[in-house]
Amino acid sequence: MIVDCHAHLANPGFFPSEFIDGIIDNLITTIDGSVSTHRRAALRRSYLEAFEDRDCDGLLREMDEAGIERVCLLIIDFEESGFRPKLDLATIFEEHSRIVLAHPDRFVVFAGVDPRKGPKALEFLRRGHADFGFQGLKLYPPCGFMPGSDIVEPLYEYCTKFNLPILVHIGPTVPCFGFEYSTPYALEPAVRRFPHATFILAHGAVKHIEDSISMARYRPNVYLDLSGYQVEYGRETLVDKLNELFEKRVNHKLLWGTDWPIFRMFGGQKTFLSLLTQPFNEGKLAIAPSEFHAIMGTTFCNLTGIQPA
Ligand SMILES: [Zn+2]
Repeated sequence: MIVDCHAHLANPGFFPSEFIDGIIDNLITTIDGSVSTHRRAALRRSYLEAFEDRDCDGLLREMDEAGIERVCLLIIDFEESGFRPKLDLATIFEEHSRIVLAHPDRFVVFAGVDPRKGPKALEFLRRGHADFGFQGLKLYPPCGFMPGSDIVEPLYEYCTKFNLPILVHIGPTVPCFGFEYSTPYALEPAVRRFPHATFILAHGAVKHIEDSISMARYRPNVYLDLSGYQVEYGRETLVDKLNELFEKRVNHKLLWGTDWPIFRMFGGQKTFLSLLTQPFNEGKLAIAPSEFHAIMGTTFCNLTGIQPA
C-alpha cells in the first residue's frame, strides 16, 4: 500500500497570495537565480495553473496513474500570520471534509490550526476530528509561534488523548515568514513533555537533516517525512543521498511524502514516486524491502490506524 503522507488540496483560496508568491520565488531561485522578469511571469502563470484542483480530480488521476492508494491532505491555518487567505478556516475545513466524504478510501485529512487562536484552536481541532473524521494535526510554526511553547499544549493533550499524529513543518520556508520557529529543536520541548504523542517532522529527512535524525534516533515518538526530496536531493545525487539517509538507522521512522502540489512544476505523482521506486527496483538502494515498503505506506497506516488494503 502506497501512501503519500504529505500533500495539500490545490485551492488557491486556502493560501495567502504572499505565500504562493514566496514559493514561486524560492523555486525560481532553486532553478536559476538569474531568471528574467519575463520568464518569471510565465513561470508564475504556469505555477498558478498547477495550483488549481479544487475537487482533487487532477490529484486522483495522478494517484491512479502512479498506483498511490491514499494521500494525506494537510490543512494550514494562516489566519494569525499577518497574511490571510481568501477563504476562512471554517470554510477550508468544510472543503476538506467534502473531499473526504466524496473519496473516503483515497484521502486522509490532518486538521491545521494556529494555537494563538486560544480555545478556538482546540475547538477547530475537536470539530475536525470528531465531526469531520480528520485523523491528525498539522502545525505550521513559520506563521509565528514556537511549537515547543505552552500555548500549543492543549492541542498536544487532545492529540495524545485521541492518538492523533502531529505533523509539524520543519525548515526554512517562504521569504515572508520567520525561520526561527521551524527548527527540530524548537519543537523538542514538546516532544519531551508529550512522550505519548506522535510527532512527524515534515521535511525532516531533507531539512535540518542532522538535528532531525538525532530527534528520530533518540526520541521514540519522532518520525520524519521525506517531502521535498524531489528538489532538495537533486536528480544526479538522489540515489547517494537516499543511501546516506538509509545508513542512519532510522528507516522505521521515515514516511514518504511529496508536498503535492508545491513541486508540480517539476513533475507529477508518478514521476516523484518513480524517483524512489525505480532505483529500489534496480537494486540501487541499500535498504531491505520490508523497510522500503514501510516508508512507502505501512508506517503511516500504523500511525493513523488506517487498515492497509
Ligand atoms: Zn506541505
